[in-house]
Amino acid sequence: MTNDGSAQTLLILGASGDLTARLLLPGLGALLAAGDAPPLTLLGAGTEDWDADRWHQRVSDAFGDHREAGPAAKTLENTRYRSADVTRPEDLRRLLEDVDGTLSIFFALPPAVTAKACEALLDVDLPKGTRLVLEKPFGTGSASAAALNRLLTRLTPEEKIHRIDHFLGKSTVLNILGLRFANRIFEPLLNSEHVAGVDLVFDEDLALEGRAGYYDKAGALADMIQSHLLQILALLTMEAPQSLDAGVFRDGTAEALRATRLWGGDPKQSSLRARYTAGKLGDRQLPDYVDEDGVDPARETETLAELVLAVDTWRWAGVPFRLRSGKAVANSRKEAVITFKEPQRLPDGLSGPDGPNRLRIGFGPDRLELDFTINGPGDPFVLDPITLRADFGPGDLPPYGEVLRGVFDDEPLLSVRGDVAEQCWRIVEPVTKAWHDGEVPIVEYPAGSDGPENSHLDV
Ligand code: NDP
Repeated sequence: MTNDGSAQTLLILGASGDLTARLLLPGLGALLAAGDAPPLTLLGAGTEDWDADRWHQRVSDAFGDHREAGPAAKTLENTRYRSADVTRPEDLRRLLEDVDGTLSIFFALPPAVTAKACEALLDVDLPKGTRLVLEKPFGTGSASAAALNRLLTRLTPEEKIHRIDHFLGKSTVLNILGLRFANRIFEPLLNSEHVAGVDLVFDEDLALEGRAGYYDKAGALADMIQSHLLQILALLTMEAPQSLDAGVFRDGTAEALRATRLWGGDPKQSSLRARYTAGKLGDRQLPDYVDEDGVDPARETETLAELVLAVDTWRWAGVPFRLRSGKAVANSRKEAVITFKEPQRLPDGLSGPDGPNRLRIGFGPDRLELDFTINGPGDPFVLDPITLRADFGPGDLPPYGEVLRGVFDDEPLLSVRGDVAEQCWRIVEPVTKAWHDGEVPIVEYPAGSDGPENSHLDV
């Protein structure tokens, strides 16, 4: 624990919502139970008029097995909920009356409501040192992200603003740093001289799962690629940071993303948008995406997106980075695959498979695999493919526990800096514009298949 142990308050705006129940409170429960948080007052606010018992039950259910652990039990005992319209300054002032110690405000709200709540906070005296914790999507494009950034810095300094990307709280993702910079053997090969291409894939065997309210307005590109996958890309491509000091580290990721752009500049060539049609996913029969409850077909929301990007630095020039995320795909694949160039030549007399070496970093299951070629069993002059495999140990905390620890410790390492949030929109904007203008027609793939046929992926 690096916080000084003095009292803190976490105020969740949007406390009756899905994110709070499914991810935020369970992460908080684990963090408290681990003894890694300060004494914490938990306040919840939402428009619904919940009584104390209902809120207590919500928190208790979400804390699960952690609910009895000392600090978690104490927070649970004192937690309170108030109904409020958080877009009204007078309601926000009332919520702040209950604050004890340093305040963190978590905006677990629909994005448009978050922006309004921040405007309302301009008319409220925020306690000094207040932290603002914001969820993705951060704005709807680079201009709106910039406007939101300007608004936030009128409320509190940048170092108190935590733009959450819970992928950065995943231990496997952070293992990329250890893998690259704590080993001699991989890093010297990670450049255009040796790497042919990188595939960064996050395919899910889940469909809409009743979340049309959020997802149908976001789509796969904004939900996954513009946020999470670009952060992983930055970790894969950044130069070695001198330290993990947040300033130094985030300069490194920002530099990599500033150099990132659409491969060839043409969204017709370098992007793909698709949505699922009826099909069997596991033992479930799914309808067409457009027939799912709450979906508006006129939005033409994609459930699978692909982008090919260039990271235009000395190290990576000429290496395509293929990013993809899709829903309702049979093969739930979550990994970064670095494909190396083939050896210049094989000695005459050796024969066998001529597949390339590949380094695979799996984000679930969390593992590392290295595909290479050796003289296998049998004829020693015939080569065989082999895979070395290592499992990553699980992190101590779930991603939201990790992220909240960063907030309570005033450690923004795991949150996205304002300029980086704008860069991430800048990277995808030529694509969103081309899609919006109908230049890249949406294609279809049956739910439960491997996705559309004209994929850019190499593996
Ligand atoms: P929900 O719609 O489930 O919850 C939103 C919450 O905001 C509800 O509690 C709602 O209260 C409350 N709310 C809306 N307007 C107001 C208002 N004016 N005053 C007070 N409360 C209000 O959304 P999610 O929980 O799914 O998502 C919240 C945020 O988290 C979004 O930005 C989303 O993009 C992001 N996110 C969500 C993830 C998830 O898995 N759910 C994952 C990653 C990010 P009421 O119902 O009482 O109106």
